[in-house]
Amino acid sequence: MRLRFLGAAEEVTGSLLLVEVESGSIIVDCGMFQGRRQESRLRNAKLPRAAIEADAAILTHSHIDHSGSMPTLVKSGFQGSIYTTLATANLCSYMLRDSARIQAADAAYLNRKYGRDPDWVPITPTYDEVDVLHALDRFVALSYRRPFEPLPGVTAQLLNAGHILGSAQVVLDVHEHGKTKRILISGDLGRKGLPILRDPETPPHPVDALVLESTYGDRVHGPVESMQTEIERVVRATVARGGKIIVPAFAVGRTQELLFVLHGLLRAGRISELPIYIDSPLAINVTEVFRMHPECFDEETRSFFDEHGDVFSFEGVRYTRTAAESMEINRQEGPAIIIAASGMAEAGRVLHHLRNHVEDERNTILIVGFMAEHTLGRRLVERRQRVKIWGVERELRAQVEVLSAFSAHADRNDLIAYARAALPKKIFLVHGEPDQQVPLKEALQTRRCHVEIPKRGAVVELD
Ligand SMILES: [Zn+2]
Repeated sequence: MRLRFLGAAEEVTGSLLLVEVESGSIIVDCGMFQGRRQESRLRNAKLPRAAIEADAAILTHSHIDHSGSMPTLVKSGFQGSIYTTLATANLCSYMLRDSARIQAADAAYLNRKYGRDPDWVPITPTYDEVDVLHALDRFVALSYRRPFEPLPGVTAQLLNAGHILGSAQVVLDVHEHGKTKRILISGDLGRKGLPILRDPETPPHPVDALVLESTYGDRVHGPVESMQTEIERVVRATVARGGKIIVPAFAVGRTQELLFVLHGLLRAGRISELPIYIDSPLAINVTEVFRMHPECFDEETRSFFDEHGDVFSFEGVRYTRTAAESMEINRQEGPAIIIAASGMAEAGRVLHHLRNHVEDERNTILIVGFMAEHTLGRRLVERRQRVKIWGVERELRAQVEVLSAFSAHADRNDLIAYARAALPKKIFLVHGEPDQQVPLKEALQTRRCHVEIPKRGAVVELD
């Protein structure tokens, strides 16, 4: 039995793991690589042969860096089924089509911008919406904890990972030569106590090999419980100044968590009613998928539903689908909360809200997610004096508030507790950058447990 680390090795995007056994091979995740433009295009367009020739695929969750290359895989000739949870399949239906549309828009923009350059090679999107439909045709949707057989001699199960709606850990029991070996793949792991979702399930133990994410292998997040009081503080202070709150947020997870927290604060009388705009068509669709999957909610959220009705619709909340409705928000006077994509403020409707609001010190820009280097979001976090929006320099006079408690990823302590609970013989750290992986490796390494940080392309024999 072999593991091949084909992506998200010493990096955080492009997840792709190949598990080879006697009866065939399975890939776990096939995510989009997101880095420098040229390298991204090459890697996303040409997937490793061994992945395309795999017999089956398992998808841990719908984030694009895990699911985003499934259409390319199918387009390249992959013949197998793609097993995942029901909620992930539903989210992918929206998110992969959205990804195809973004690629088409980006390609059109760049070809228009550089088209007159004689050396310019026109860009074509890696896949289109029809390719997405072909990929969706391959999905086999399952509930958590329902054993299935992706290959003869391999029993698999999906366990709740508590990271985003539908996210799963993967347990593979490989029966060969009269013995059974167990491989546990964490996928992206969530945190205990996050709003809405059930906590990550305790992993089975012992396991022969654990493939563990390590995004925050060396960071400890603020307590989840601080989230409500922090949001309350920001809302009250901004309303008192007569300002607006602009939140760049990913469509999946963060938007719904914010709504849940705001709804709770409103019901408890800790904030008063104000307009809350969800200004993202994808976020609106995704919120609909949340409503379809109460089986993924924790007790608190389910009883909130029973007591107060729909968590995501309440006084003041307005969902704006069209561009005209989005522009209309600009004419709105007085305090309001505007939640819009993209999450790192690199594109999307949040840009026109930022342009209109960064120069007024009454306003607040609320940062609730990870901001990668070289993004507008990161420059806001750094509170630069001036920021460039759509090519125009603007004074950053609005307040910037950064709340780390919203992270959907396990932190160092969570990862260590998870790994200890699984009692693994070997651990392979993936989905992390070396500055996060090396300290985590040192913390996990013991006499009975060997820890490795595989490089991309590394092959490991498990016998
Ligand atoms: Zn994720």
